[in-house]
Amino acid sequence: MKATEISDFHWTMQIIGDLDAGLIVVDKAYRVYAWNSFMQSYSGISADKIIGKVLFDVIEGLPESWLRKKVDASFKLNSRGFSCWEDRPYLFKFKNFSPISNGLREMRQNITFSPLTSVNGEVSHVSLVINDVTDIAKNKIHLMDSNQKLSDLSRTDGLTQLFNRRYWETCLMKEYESCKISGAVSSLVIFDIDHFKRVNDTYGHTVGDHVIRHTANELRKASRTSDVCGRYGGEEFTVLLPGTCANQALYFTERLRKKIESSIVECEGYNVKYTISLGICEISPYQSNHLNWLEHADKALYYSKETGRNRSTVFDLAFIK
Ligand code: GH3
Ligand code: MG
Ligand code: MG
Repeated sequence: MKATEISDFHWTMQIIGDLDAGLIVVDKAYRVYAWNSFMQSYSGISADKIIGKVLFDVIEGLPESWLRKKVDASFKLNSRGFSCWEDRPYLFKFKNFSPISNGLREMRQNITFSPLTSVNGEVSHVSLVINDVTDIAKNKIHLMDSNQKLSDLSRTDGLTQLFNRRYWETCLMKEYESCKISGAVSSLVIFDIDHFKRVNDTYGHTVGDHVIRHTANELRKASRTSDVCGRYGGEEFTVLLPGTCANQALYFTERLRKKIESSIVECEGYNVKYTISLGICEISPYQSNHLNWLEHADKALYYSKETGRNRSTVFDLAFIK
């Protein structure tokens, strides 16, 4: 080598050594040819302990078959490969030293696999460049969490934590459309607190709010995870019961009605007793759209109110004649 070539080589080695990324070079037998200082400090394995050895013999716990696929592709196709932290969080299990770990204990890594050709043009080695992308991963995860929280907030009613009217109506529309296509059975329940104005007038709004929350909690307890519960308006609640016929829905509403009838809400020194009235409508060809389905359930609720309150009614075609 000429003097200039030697100094070039020296500089190259220095640059590689100082890189804020891991650099490894392996041959076809996975013998290690380069292991820079980044790799040394994070793995705790010095270059002289690994150079010339088979990578898998020195580093335990590597995903061998995955890594072989990636590296062999670079050898065979003479092309670069890439691995992203979102697909595989890391190749080397390195500690994440960042103080705010955001739940990420191990360094997240993006990896580039590059073929290295010898003078005869043949791929003799493959290099792996390991980039520490923990900060990027943390930010992305934080952003996704925030977006999830925002989206939860935008669907939720603040007083009861049930779905709000807007979001519940989109669920109603989807349920209606999907039942129309599949022919599946589904029931809609709407219910309303009886003489709620009296509760407010007698005990005040804070107690009124407490009664609304109590109703929501009983609804949550009575429903299944597949049921879609919403606060439709002030003291009005709506529930979608997928896969449930009117008779089963009646069983559900009666259970909830009796539970509320027998409960005492304690608030501000008062013991409040109250009741609810409910309307049920099982989906059928008589409902021309999702809002019509809701209207029919509301007709049934109206019937419950008209006939004395504290009761459940299943929609009947006679209500719209
Ligand atoms: P009915 O048995 O016919 O349903 O009678 P009602 O008194 O329950 O019905 P009405 O619709 O006349 O009264 C509902 C009341 O609910 C009126 C409104 O001030 C009150 N309200 C609506 N939203 C809230 C709320 O978020 N908190 C409280 N405390 N009251 C509310
Ligand atoms: Mg009302
Ligand atoms: Mg009411």
